Amino acid sequence: MKDLKKQLRLFAAERDWDQFHSPKNLSMAMSVEAAEILEIFQWMSDEESRQLDQQKLQHLEEEIGDVMNYLVALADKFGMDPLEAARKKIKLNAEKYPASRVRGSAKKYDEYSD
Ligand SMILES: [Mg+2]
Repeated sequence: MKDLKKQLRLFAAERDWDQFHSPKNLSMAMSVEAAEILEIFQWMSDEESRQLDQQKLQHLEEEIGDVMNYLVALADKFGMDPLEAARKKIKLNAEKYPASRVRGSAKKYDEYSD
């Protein structure tokens, strides 16, 4: 993660692009890239979305890279480690959604009556 952060900083610095990389712009860019992932799957059936051809797999990998890079750059602006944030969030979600309570259900945590 540190290495990726460094590469992204260097990439922006070499192009004098850091001036454009406000948290607002980075979050918007990340969302646009996430939408590019949606575009790959748009109009596919669930089944089709599980069996991408080589060209679509390649495209998906590129868009995942775009999202990840903007996410890491955004986190870097606030000194956050995205991996640490993800680990913390899994822990929080595990507390919110105990397996014994929610297994096999897609309900939101506040939709359980017990
Ligand atoms: Mg892209």
